[in-house]
Amino acid sequence: MSKSYTGGCACRAIRYEIAAEPIAMNHCQCRDCQRASGTGHGSYLTFPNRQAVTLTGQATEWEMVGDSGNTKRRGFCPTCGAPVYMTFTAMPDLFTIHAASLDDPSRFKPDMVTYAVRGLAWDCVDPTLAAFETMPPM
Ligand SMILES: [Zn+2]
Ligand SMILES: [Zn+2]
Repeated sequence: MSKSYTGGCACRAIRYEIAAEPIAMNHCQCRDCQRASGTGHGSYLTFPNRQAVTLTGQATEWEMVGDSGNTKRRGFCPTCGAPVYMTFTAMPDLFTIHAASLDDPSRFKPDMVTYAVRGLAWDCVDPTLAAFETMPPM
């Protein structure tokens, strides 16, 4: 395994360290991710194991049901407002972070685009990436 993934919010009140390798790295163009990111898509790394995650600081969490029907909990910093992580009620082991929250965001190497059906004409992502209209088949 390479070195752990570290990062946090913009004001550094919330920090994480993840001693695992991501199982997925994607851009998501669904409406929820557009609203939460403030632009055309969210960019995420998803890790397989909550036990590998050390989280410090107190995020505010809010819950919503996504386009997929899954309940998501989004954690953001109440001071600076930066979105930091996301968890899923139906898949409690997964821990997803926002790519730009990484100390080294160049470690984000997207492998697919999800909810491309909602992509906006002005939001151009790498056209060579695998693009799924909604979620890829499991
Ligand atoms: Zn903050
Ligand atoms: Zn999304």
